[in-house]
Amino acid sequence: MDDSPTHGPSLEPALHAARALVLADLAAGDVARADVVSLVEDSVSHRRWWVEQWPEGVAYVTGLIAQDVQDALLERYGRWPLCPLCDGVPDVRSARDVTDDADDADGEEGGPHALEVEPELGEDPHWICGKKGVVVAPVGSLAPQKPAGGPGGTGLL
Ligand SMILES: [Zn+2]
Repeated sequence: MDDSPTHGPSLEPALHAARALVLADLAAGDVARADVVSLVEDSVSHRRWWVEQWPEGVAYVTGLIAQDVQDALLERYGRWPLCPLCDGVPDVRSARDVTDDADDADGEEGGPHALEVEPELGEDPHWICGKKGVVVAPVGSLAPQKPAGGPGGTGLL
């Protein structure tokens, strides 16, 4: 019915859903503080304008907002969300054998790296581990990270 490009009725619900998903991931990483939430609001505002210019992009706002917030956090606070797979957990395999071609210091050595949004511009975005090339979770469904310095015992919720 409505292919009028300027006011698609699905824009606000899409933005609202994207905001909720990114906030859920921030909460999972325990970084959903007020100043961080304001970064999300900034991105939502920007993407609202962006979708008004390119209405078809409404399907991509979740992935884009996630990347906006990721970039903003990197500038101010550091990497987010940290990869739960390469967290230096001394489980099965040592993390040393995966440095084939060290593309220029994307992640610090020894430290956890950040997940990447894939696809960068597409529907149904997921967080992926770029090192292992595996999907970690859909955007909005990151598992809560265990707080560091806990008793280290059975922390399953
Ligand atoms: Zn990883």
